[in-house]
Amino acid sequence: MSLRLVEAPSPNTEPRPDGTVIDTLILHYTGMHSGAAAIARLRDPAAIVSAHYVVEEDGTILRLVPEALKARHAGVSHWRGRSALNANSIGIEVVNPGHEWGYRHFPAMQMAAVADLCLEILARHPIPACNVVGHSDVSPDRKQDPGEFFDWEGLAANGIGLWPTEDGPAEGESRELLARIGYRTDLPLAVLLTAFQRHWRPERVDGVADAETLARLQAVARLDPTRP
Ligand SMILES: [Zn+2]
Repeated sequence: MSLRLVEAPSPNTEPRPDGTVIDTLILHYTGMHSGAAAIARLRDPAAIVSAHYVVEEDGTILRLVPEALKARHAGVSHWRGRSALNANSIGIEVVNPGHEWGYRHFPAMQMAAVADLCLEILARHPIPACNVVGHSDVSPDRKQDPGEFFDWEGLAANGIGLWPTEDGPAEGESRELLARIGYRTDLPLAVLLTAFQRHWRPERVDGVADAETLARLQAVARLDPTRP
């Protein structure tokens, strides 16, 4: 499989630190009123931000930054005990207006392109399933993307990221389970639970540790974090 990529280079990049192993994949939505505006911003030297790829709603994939270089997509971020994840991650921006500009479902053509792109990336780098995450997972106090409409379950069915096949017992201490999954722990519990729900329990995103949320927390925390 080889994807057809449209080259759209961004200047907002820098070298990765020597010896970096790319082991994390971070999904975003663009969160602007149009895809064109988002792409222009990700290529604007004054904006500083960038991502390796942008996936448009019709499934077109743009390459902005080569994977060997660092893109500026995650900012202040934390996952499984590490911070500043731009250094060791690949960032994909999925075009969607986001919660601020009219959040909507991701078209099937777009999600299919996201899945194909992720599979190619996973074939190139040692990225375990537990390190395929959303921006809201790694920056839960300030980000909501890619949000509760993003089809994490569908991606996992294609071998991309973690999704439990059955819920665990609805017991345990939520903060400890969240830490085991990878979330930072120095934030209010409701903030962390909201981020968890956005990814793994999108039916209800309210920051409340009800029985279903606890059961899903147990289920995700029990998955093998090192599974490739
Ligand atoms: Zn983002």
